[in-house]
Amino acid sequence: MYINGEFRDTPTGKTIEVTNPATGEVIKEIAAGGREETLEAVKAAKDAFAEWKWKTGRERGQYLDAVAHKLRQNRALLAETITKEMGKPLPDAQREVDVATDYVEWYAEEAKRVYGETIPASQQQKHLMVIHEPVGVTAAITPWNFPVSMITRKIAPAIAAGCTVVLKPAPSTPLSAIEVFRCFHEAKLPKGVANLVIGPAEEIGATLTQSPDVRKLTFTGSTEVGKKLIRDSADSVKKISMELGGHAPFIVFEDADLDAAVTGALLTKFKNAGQTCISTNRIYVSHLVAEEFGRKLAERASQLKIGNGMHEGVEIGPLINENAMKKVQSHVEDAVRQNGKVLCGGKPFVTEEKNGYFYEPTVIIHAHEQMRIAKEETFGPVVPVFTFQDQEEVIQRANHERYGLAAYCYTGNLQRAFHMMKALDYGIVGINDPSPVAAQAPFGGFKESGIGREGGRSGIQEFLEEKFVSINTS
Ligand code: ADP
Repeated sequence: MYINGEFRDTPTGKTIEVTNPATGEVIKEIAAGGREETLEAVKAAKDAFAEWKWKTGRERGQYLDAVAHKLRQNRALLAETITKEMGKPLPDAQREVDVATDYVEWYAEEAKRVYGETIPASQQQKHLMVIHEPVGVTAAITPWNFPVSMITRKIAPAIAAGCTVVLKPAPSTPLSAIEVFRCFHEAKLPKGVANLVIGPAEEIGATLTQSPDVRKLTFTGSTEVGKKLIRDSADSVKKISMELGGHAPFIVFEDADLDAAVTGALLTKFKNAGQTCISTNRIYVSHLVAEEFGRKLAERASQLKIGNGMHEGVEIGPLINENAMKKVQSHVEDAVRQNGKVLCGGKPFVTEEKNGYFYEPTVIIHAHEQMRIAKEETFGPVVPVFTFQDQEEVIQRANHERYGLAAYCYTGNLQRAFHMMKALDYGIVGINDPSPVAAQAPFGGFKESGIGREGGRSGIQEFLEEKFVSINTS
């Protein structure tokens, strides 16, 4: 843990075991905290806020620049830590650190650009303006699938805005969080501005939501936990930002560049072994090209190299744990029971190290809406392929009743591209683009996929309050 500018290794009696999902080995056992440490962290953040909020944007930006510098210096260590505790291939982990650094750099700049507004008054002697002030102490709860970039994507805009933070990372990936905080420490971020509490989710979560001193909660994780946190935040009417689950459709029209679409589908489905909230969950292909597309996709998916992310050339790492394996297996079994045909994969993969949670990249054709996989988030390397006849039909089927995070569409027709952009009920739309994410762009979902945005100009607004000031000079 890291509270009020100090690392705490002192055992509290409670510990967390960190496991490498590629080997099943326990990498480390670390001291965990609970309610008491969380309250201390909130107090440290509250005390620090009293000074931090008065710093100029330029000063806060300079601290963030120093953090970005430390992240860059520690890129190799951070990437290795990510791979060892959550499994993604090392080059992907390196890219994650780069993305995490991008967010810090972007908000180092944005800290200087928190503009207010003047409003023309209706009386001569009145002067109306809007200024922006930091919300206050912020609780941040992050997941394991991007254990470094999810942290900086929350903390960088929060501290750029003038807030102070208490972070609770996912229990499976605390080591990445510790390394990020080492960068904060080495960048000499003033004590109490960013605090880290590691321990049981429910206890820490409840302490944070119940605290009236915590004015903002920012969360990335499952829709189910997000809903609970929204409910728990109601009593003290906290501001909230929620990045929740998704069920991304990937639409391929007959006028698309089919090879580009296959490459896009591979990236959006199998990166991170399908464990991202914007992973493709359903592929819809025009009936005119469905057979060819399915064949090409299965061919390339079956060539992806599975294994320990530390090994050279590996493209797909393990799933995070046994529960993730069970969910993936149950989705495949259900699809097969309902006449889905497995074109490639369809079973666990056993490596030399034996104990990892590996699953083969799997493509299932003859998919239909009654399958569980058509509605529930799989969070694994399995994709069903549906066919469609026309544009209006696929729009209707692609728009999900509950989720609205990301959608992808491949077409060579400009008119159609613009129509799809508007017709898809999703917060993020990638047209002929498998990675519609950038530090300078808003990321977030419609419907039950979330509230608020991270990244871009909107990302910092989430941590600001508007204050209207009326000055009467009569
Ligand atoms: P996932 O299925 O991706 O692990 P979760 O929503 O379970 O998603 O976890 C995301 C984050 O939320 C993790 O840091 C986890 O520890 C935390 N979390 C889970 N349950 C709670 C809870 N009741 N209160 C606060 N945080 C929680």
